[in-house]
Amino acid sequence: MARVQALRCRECGTEYQLQPTHVCEMCFGPLDVVYDYSEVARGLRERIESGPSSMWRYRDLLPIPDGAPLVTLDEGFTPLVRAERLGAELGLRNLYLKNDTMNPTNSFKDRVVSVAVSWARAHGFETMGCASTGNLAHSVAAYSARAGLEAYVFMPADIENAKVVSTSVYEPNVIAVRGNYDEVNRLCSQLAEEFPWAFCNINVRPFYAEGSKTLTFETAEQLGWRLPDEIVIPIGSGCQFVRHRRAASELIELGLVPDGRLPALTGAQALGCAPVYNAWRDGTDRVQPVRPDTIAKSIAIGNPSDGPYVVRIARETGGVVEAVTEEEIVEAIRLLARTEGIFTETAGGVALGVLLKLARAGRWQGDEVVVTYLTGHGLKTADALNGSAGGRRVEIDPTLKSFREVVSV
Ligand SMILES: *Cc1c(COP(=O)(O)O)cnc(C)c1O
Ligand SMILES: [Zn+2]
Repeated sequence: MARVQALRCRECGTEYQLQPTHVCEMCFGPLDVVYDYSEVARGLRERIESGPSSMWRYRDLLPIPDGAPLVTLDEGFTPLVRAERLGAELGLRNLYLKNDTMNPTNSFKDRVVSVAVSWARAHGFETMGCASTGNLAHSVAAYSARAGLEAYVFMPADIENAKVVSTSVYEPNVIAVRGNYDEVNRLCSQLAEEFPWAFCNINVRPFYAEGSKTLTFETAEQLGWRLPDEIVIPIGSGCQFVRHRRAASELIELGLVPDGRLPALTGAQALGCAPVYNAWRDGTDRVQPVRPDTIAKSIAIGNPSDGPYVVRIARETGGVVEAVTEEEIVEAIRLLARTEGIFTETAGGVALGVLLKLARAGRWQGDEVVVTYLTGHGLKTADALNGSAGGRRVEIDPTLKSFREVVSV
């Protein structure tokens, strides 16, 4: 039996052959990859531990055909940092940060893109595409260059300049769309019908999405093969949130973690774009689209495709969905930098802001193992801190006298 078997509708269970498609023809539900793990279960932990120092140590649990060459820049296996100083401020003695700012293009998107581009190349595609809030475009451009594939990346025209420059350097076709992400996404869905391209987050989404699981696999491995009590995850489309649930249950089912309990999965949004939080607050899983207005542009998705599943999974696992103001995002970014020496982008600030808010509201006793996913690097959104980066700056003449006049040590 093949390890990677089919695509299956999350809603009605209809199965489809492995092909570039992402919605069920019967009910429009999303499609997920189905595996038969029976043949990889034996010796799995040893194979993982002796595998490469990248997310590809989990290749057995990813949807790339055995033997197909990978398109990789050694993404993943990023540090799991024990945050003692930040934890002390919050009364958390076992606080960890998964530092995914350390990926090749400095965001967690490299995990999903490495899978998508590997899958596309193995299936004969010559052109990659994506609808992006910035980080995905950056990653798709880099991995397409690495693979020698053409790339068309679509993003809202008002995206941060740093993201445009760091994407353009790989010379993809950058299409700046006068519209918001949801409009870009709709356009790309139409293009995916017209052109024989692999759009990472559209027609090859079921394969692409699987790459997110590695973040949770690694977290468990780095904790000594155990799952944390709670994980705080930023929500854009909700795609990765859903995969973290799946990753945790795969670890349990495959016997890689001893006591089979799912972690509480908690979602984080910016109040300036909080459709999932609004649904959670209103006690429904019907997510009403909103018009995004926030500095957390990489998660500014007003109509999140996996939103309803996020609400259900948060409820099922004992997590919550919480949202923070723009000021709380900036405060969290600064507190992290000051206490742990890590600079995260606004999406990481959203996750941390939610961690701070929940900790201060007394959600935890203090000994729980809590992990926050820092999904992107601060240099990507440095402009968000303009005028509020903190620290002390003085200007002096190049003389001892001038220094003594201005600085009292
Ligand atoms: C895309 C992105 C997210 C959100 O991921 P989804 O799977 O869309 O929910 C979070 N953080 C960063 C930095 C991202 O680029
Ligand atoms: Zn269906």
